Parts: sequence; C-alpha cells; structure tokens
Amino acid sequence: MRGRFAPTPSGLMHIGNARTALLAWLQTRSAGGTFLLRMEDVDTTRSRPELAEQAIADLRWLGLDWDEGPDIGGDRSPYTQSERIDRYETALAVLERKGRLYDCYCSRAELTAVASAPHGLGSEGPAYPGTCRALMPEQRAARSRNKQPSLRFAIDSQAVRFDDAVAGPQAFLPGAGGDFVVKRADGMMSYQLAVVVDDAAMGVTDVLRGADLLDSTPRQLQLYEALDLHPPRFAHVPLLYGTDGKRLAKRHGALSLAALRASGATPEKVVGWLAAVSGLTDSIEPVRASELVGHFSVSLVRSDDVQVTDDMLSQLVD
Ligand code: GLU
Repeated sequence: MRGRFAPTPSGLMHIGNARTALLAWLQTRSAGGTFLLRMEDVDTTRSRPELAEQAIADLRWLGLDWDEGPDIGGDRSPYTQSERIDRYETALAVLERKGRLYDCYCSRAELTAVASAPHGLGSEGPAYPGTCRALMPEQRAARSRNKQPSLRFAIDSQAVRFDDAVAGPQAFLPGAGGDFVVKRADGMMSYQLAVVVDDAAMGVTDVLRGADLLDSTPRQLQLYEALDLHPPRFAHVPLLYGTDGKRLAKRHGALSLAALRASGATPEKVVGWLAAVSGLTDSIEPVRASELVGHFSVSLVRSDDVQVTDDMLSQLVD
C-alpha cells in the first residue's frame, strides 16, 4: 500500500489541506503502507519555493511524516513536479503515437462562450465541444499561423465508472467533461497529466484527496487507460464549509496553519479538531496524529459535506 499527499505550493496550507494530509497519512499508516509527499508545482506561475518549504514545515509540525519526499528523496525521485517535465513529455509522446492528442486553437473567449453543456463536469467548467478535433487540414494550417496551440486529449466516448471509498459508486456519462487540455499553449503541463504520470510512476495504490477533485477522476482514469497504466483506488473526502456555505479554504484566511501556530495553537489541538470534524472522534479533544493511527478506517470518515459552525471554529482559534 502506497499513499501520498500532493500539495500545490501556491498558498499557505490551511486547515482544509491539513485535514486531507492527515486523513491520507492515517489511511497509509494504519495500513502499514509507505507514505510519500509530492510537491505539485507544475503550475510555475502560481507556485513558490518558499511555500513548498512552509508546507513541509507545517506538515511536520502537525506530527505527520513521510518515507519519500522532496526533502528526503526516495526510490522514485524527484518528488517535485517542476523537475519531472521530461516524464510528462514522454507520456505525451505515447498519447501522440496513439492518436489521442490534437492541437487546439480555441481562444479563452471562444471557450467561455461555450454554453454550459449538460455533460460538463461541475468543477471543470463547460465541456469542450470538440471544435478543433474536427478541423480540416487547411483550417488547421490557417489557424496555426496566428496562434500557438494547446494540446488536447481526445477522450473516448464510454461512460466512466469507479467505486470511491468515501463517496461511493460513481458513474460519469459518456463524453463527460469533453476533451481536455494536457499541455497549455505556453508549454505548461496540465495537472491532469502530471498527477497521473506521477501517481503511476511513484507506485501510488491509494489516492485520498478532497472531493473537489472527484470530477477530475474520470479524466484521470481515461489517461491511465490510454497510457496503459494501472489506476489507484480513490477516496474523495468532503470539504469543510463555513456557515456562509463557502469553502473554508477560500475565505477564512486566519485558518492557515501558519496563523494558527502564530496564535499559539498546538498541533494536538489542530489535529484533535480535524479528527472531530471528520467524524473520527466524538468530541473536540487535543490528540496527537500518531494516537489516531490505531483506530483509523476510511469508513469512519464522514461522507457528507462538513459545515463548520462558528462554535466549532471558536474551539480551534480561541
Ligand atoms: N495538488 C492538488 C491540490 O493541491 C491535489 C492533487 C491530488 O491530490 O490529486 O489540490
């Protein structure tokens, strides 16, 4: 069993990320598996090295550890996506050989003009209607004179089904989400491609992550299949919401681990709070992450959205 946590170092780690990290770590440690940390800085415009360092410090402060990672190395190095671009290029070459890629010249304006199609995946915006998949050679030539293309992956038109360890059985309609970008016009590799290549190369057997990525999973499963790679098992845990209905991550800046630390919170207090709101414990009591390992099971994790009340929040920040 190999599990992982894969943060994007584009902002301070907040309690939502910390919770995902804690649950993924507990899943792996309770199964006696190998846990790895991977920095997902493939989006170099948003990622910052100092935030990657901060994330590592925050995770260690929480009481989590890993067997392989950017700071300690391991058999499947490197564990930082910006150092793995050649692997993504190799995967693109495989997809290209199989005829699964095409150049896309659609502008941002053209894409946003696409009405939200019924098969769109909620978190991924409207489904791409396949405009450039059907271009005639002369149309393609004409468009390529004015614009650098992005590369799109041509999905196949089968329904995608999988069993999620937390969210339950999932079924996505044929063509759900449409063909998606695997390499942007500016050369940046997409998250979808990088995460599949890396989870496969790093031998990850179990992916536990936030439910905001549930909609990405059918895309990733299509990539696994096209690349002849074995997909991991998935567990998507519900996100934390404030009483305003907004994701806690997005709004409540004071809930970064750095801010909580600065205000004097202990790791036991934060872990105890996260365990309680996740359904692992009955009440909010300080606890060390390692003390939760023996009792953990993914089936204990609440599968409904977690509404964090002001009263609950006050038990974290007071
Ligand atoms: N890097 C992604 C994020 O921070 C997580 C990717 C994943 O777990 O698949 O949201």
